[in-house]
Amino acid sequence: MKEYVNCTSCGAQFPAKEIRCPYCGTAYEPAAEEEYVGKLEDVRTELDQHKTDADKSTVKSLVRVILIFVAVVVILLVLGLAANILPNLGSRARQRENKEEFMQKYSVSTEEEN
Ligand SMILES: [Zn+2]
Repeated sequence: MKEYVNCTSCGAQFPAKEIRCPYCGTAYEPAAEEEYVGKLEDVRTELDQHKTDADKSTVKSLVRVILIFVAVVVILLVLGLAANILPNLGSRARQRENKEEFMQKYSVSTEEEN
């Protein structure tokens, strides 16, 4: 970019970084545009920052939800195993008792037959 520019309105020379001619106030478009683009970049950077923050909190809450879900699944599995194993143990013991009872009855009845 040129260091100095001539005003398109009054022809005065002024630094190219000026947005307006310091003498007549006519807007110098390249500088004005550059400032506008710079502001847009600031807004975009700010928006990106907000988005990154939002993403981080979303990931945090998602991890929390997954942890809770896993904990619930583990608890259900443990409860399910307990509910399946304990009655089986009980019924297995009962089956053995029934079998012994049956065997005793059977041997008694066979003895009776004999
Ligand atoms: Zn001017």
